[in-house]
Amino acid sequence: MLEKVVIANRGEIALRILRACKELGIKTVAVYSKADKDLMHVRLADEAVCIGPNASTESYLNIPRIISAAEVTDATGIHPGYGFLAENAGFAEMVENSGFTFIGPKADTIRVMGDKVAAIEAMQKSGVPTVPGSNGPLDDDNERTMRIAREIGYPVIIKAAAGGGGRGMRVVHSEAALINSIFVTKTESKAAFGDDTVYMEKFLENPRHVEVQVLADGQGSAIHLYDRDCSMQRRHQKVVEEAPAPHIDPEARAQVLKACTDACIEIGYRGAGTFEFLYENGRFFFIEMNTRVQVEHPVSEMVTGVDIIKEQLLIASGQPLSFKQEDIEVSGHAFECRINAEDPKNFLPCPGKINQFHAPGGLGVRVDSHLYSGYSIPPFYDSMIAKLITYAPTREEALKRMEVALDEMIIDGIKTNIPLQKEIVQDTNFAVGGVNIHYLEKKLGL
Ligand code: ADP
Repeated sequence: MLEKVVIANRGEIALRILRACKELGIKTVAVYSKADKDLMHVRLADEAVCIGPNASTESYLNIPRIISAAEVTDATGIHPGYGFLAENAGFAEMVENSGFTFIGPKADTIRVMGDKVAAIEAMQKSGVPTVPGSNGPLDDDNERTMRIAREIGYPVIIKAAAGGGGRGMRVVHSEAALINSIFVTKTESKAAFGDDTVYMEKFLENPRHVEVQVLADGQGSAIHLYDRDCSMQRRHQKVVEEAPAPHIDPEARAQVLKACTDACIEIGYRGAGTFEFLYENGRFFFIEMNTRVQVEHPVSEMVTGVDIIKEQLLIASGQPLSFKQEDIEVSGHAFECRINAEDPKNFLPCPGKINQFHAPGGLGVRVDSHLYSGYSIPPFYDSMIAKLITYAPTREEALKRMEVALDEMIIDGIKTNIPLQKEIVQDTNFAVGGVNIHYLEKKLGL
């Protein structure tokens, strides 16, 4: 078993990882920036090391400082959480080369999945359904490119192979705009990611975002923890998530779940991961794989009873999976509302001091948050400050429970998006389930 783990992250996920380590008897090292000395998990960790100033480039993204922290504390493993260095293959490699265990997949796997063209190719080999497209990079042969677009049918989307975070994509509605759009996307991609490889896909007009959670031990076993629906988004940022995804064609679901575990075995996947799909007209289309734990992992934990972070730690310790696929059953329904320190009207971040924090409670209510009364949210990082999760035997009850919990939650001193979340959970179409990825922006009049 891993003996001591550096938690290379901050906020709620750092606290989440700390709790899992403690339950497994693993010692913890918090690494933090100057602005984060008052974080909850810094107080609770066995050891804490300040790794630099406020800017994340000089702290949470500074690889040598994180590795030194592991060295000086005699840690054995490093958990990257999500964001920051979680999907940085160079980091994973350096962690392992320095003699520590990277709690995640092999660096090579992260590298392949970070290149969308390579990822799609790997998926197709394992029978994971992908979006009809160019099946590889676009070259300088404009005639060929136009022919591919005609075959796929407009609208198409041009995507950067190295793209991420919703950047490096352009929708094209007609042949007249095609070649110029490719040129612009290539130029932007070169500037943003240092790579101008682009590819083409059919642009799906009204899809839902449905994703599959997997766990694999890297020793030939892989299981899935069913699916989540994260269609409630604004600017490609998820706002509310739920598990399982409602109203999914049972046959398509069974096929995609099996394809995901097959793909894990095929690529020798290790750790927790997520296959993201667009779902339209009863069909799944793979868009990307996230090689890390995700913000929304708790909804899958609630409906399957599996502690995903503990499994990550056990897998990284070289142990086989604690569960077989037959052991995993979905029971009940869970929702997660992301609570952000932001103005609910114009979405501008609202950092500042929390005068009073009161977390809701009761049966089936879970709050993953590092907040406490008197804590000051620094302005330097992501604005997500809490995740409110509700669980109940049925979707309807879990949604009602979320409404009650949101009413109970008090975060006094700053503005939050709780008013927006209240509106969403009372939305009649959301109550039916299965709204598409454009729904929230349309509702907001964006
Ligand atoms: P990123 O890595 O930047 O998140 P993704 O490939 O996951 O990029 O795509 C981000 C979002 O862009 C998707 O969630 C979806 O909203 C939209 N998108 C991507 N590909 C398509 C497509 N083929 N058709 C329609 N929308 C798409």
